[in-house]
Amino acid sequence: MGRYAAVTGKVVDELARILDPARVVTDPEKLAPYAHDEVSEAAYVCMPDVVVKPNTTAEVSAILRLANREMIPVTPRGAGTGLSAGCVPMHGGIVLSLENMNRVIEVDRRNLFMVVEPGVTTGEVQRIAREQGLLYAGDPCSSESSQIGGNLAENAGGNKAVKYGTTSKHVYGLEVVLPTGEIVTTGGKCVKDVTGYDLVHLFVGSEGTLGVITKAWLKLLPLPKFQVDLLAPFDDMQKAIEVVPRVMTESGIVPTAVEFMDSLSIKAAELYLNSSLPHSDAAAYLIVELEGNSEQQVESEYEAIGHLCMQCGALEVYIADNLATQDRIWKARKCVAEALRVVSPIYCMEDITVPTSEIPQLLTSISQISKEFDVKIPAFGHAGDGNIHATLLREGMDDATWETTKEKALHEMYSATYRHGGNLSGEHGIGAKRLRPLERFVDRAQMQVLKSIKAALDPNLILNPGKIVDMN
Ligand SMILES: Cc1cc2nc3c(=O)[nH]c(=O)nc-3n(C[C@H](O)[C@H](O)[C@H](O)COP(=O)(O)OP(=O)(O)OC[C@H]3O[C@@H](n4cnc5c(N)ncnc54)[C@H](O)[C@@H]3O)c2cc1C
Repeated sequence: MGRYAAVTGKVVDELARILDPARVVTDPEKLAPYAHDEVSEAAYVCMPDVVVKPNTTAEVSAILRLANREMIPVTPRGAGTGLSAGCVPMHGGIVLSLENMNRVIEVDRRNLFMVVEPGVTTGEVQRIAREQGLLYAGDPCSSESSQIGGNLAENAGGNKAVKYGTTSKHVYGLEVVLPTGEIVTTGGKCVKDVTGYDLVHLFVGSEGTLGVITKAWLKLLPLPKFQVDLLAPFDDMQKAIEVVPRVMTESGIVPTAVEFMDSLSIKAAELYLNSSLPHSDAAAYLIVELEGNSEQQVESEYEAIGHLCMQCGALEVYIADNLATQDRIWKARKCVAEALRVVSPIYCMEDITVPTSEIPQLLTSISQISKEFDVKIPAFGHAGDGNIHATLLREGMDDATWETTKEKALHEMYSATYRHGGNLSGEHGIGAKRLRPLERFVDRAQMQVLKSIKAALDPNLILNPGKIVDMN
């Protein structure tokens, strides 16, 4: 423990006075679900001493004041769908779950904003916007379960990032409780605002290490009237991937989404969904989504992209222009993470990111690494923005073989990513899982800036320690 104090009975009593005893959990059975996120490895499972469930910003502030005074680590937690062990209490202490702060405060149609608490699920934000003829453009594959606070803390990407950008592009204001308990409100409904440092985008993506997000001002857009999805199977992964930069540069069209799945991912999805997928023996799927307000325009765009896919060697191009067929395509894509877990309950999902033109070369490197270390590495993800979820499967390896294989293969994969002008994580974040690789791959000056920011906002290092930067 070193720097941190234990959660004593006295501390639990004080927490129960701040909240009420029913929202202060100490029963080990009830603590267990808060000991992990979606990272499957035992090294990233840690039991909290206590879980607290505040209802208000004032309660969050009082909890942090107490923790800061007593030197007790606090780990903010959304829905626990993270893929980098960001909400895992690596030093024990308090898990601060935002699950009760789930109110939609306002839908402002005149200014195109929605003001929400952090515990609202992303899917709920999307639905409420849609009911009003509006679009919330953040769309991670976990949208039905992840919370908007978790999306903001991770700067989640997802499917529509090609056209609309990541979560950071949809937020204009935040209320944040600092580790010392002070409440800061930054930004709001002004579309243009350069009043001081851009604190909104300092907290976005800070993975709960700089403050707890308790309110957010989210930007909405008019909902496009027409949407069409294309599914193109290919008999060769490289042919499929080579379409991606050409879609953007040659067709002059900006699709909403460009996703891909390799053959192992397609097979895993088919098994998981227990229903046959078209051309499921293909080497790769490319999924392209287009939206617009004119049916004619969307039609001419999907014809142009369909033609480009066929030119590049697609086996077929399926057009999905109704909810049922679109749902079928996206179910297959969105289930891949869970489907691979069925194939191999222990796996290591990576989130490397490169400029889109480098994807073909990076996939060649991944395939070489897979052969060299004799480990299956299915790859799928957000091809339109260069973000690839290459996933090492443990399948059949004993503990020791898995650990050494994983370490060596990951080192090679990260090195290849950097050679191709890329970076460690596109959307899942550093968390505890990529703490050491970040130290290895980021330059010293940048690491020093990260540490200075952390020390300035969290002088006692009580907020989410063991994530992004290790200062203990
Ligand atoms: C099947 C599946 C598909 C996924 N698809 C995508 C995808 O397409 N794109 C993508 O980007 N990610 C994806 N993810 C990863 C994950 O869903 C996202 O990272 C999501 O943003 C996490 O939200 P959460 O509410 O579950 O947060 P958690 O996992 O609970 O926490 C994530 C991080 O945010 C911090 N945090 C949570 N709430 C707050 C708050 N209010 N204030 C401050 N810090 C906070 C935590 O401390 C932690 O560091 C996927 C995960 C799964 C399991």
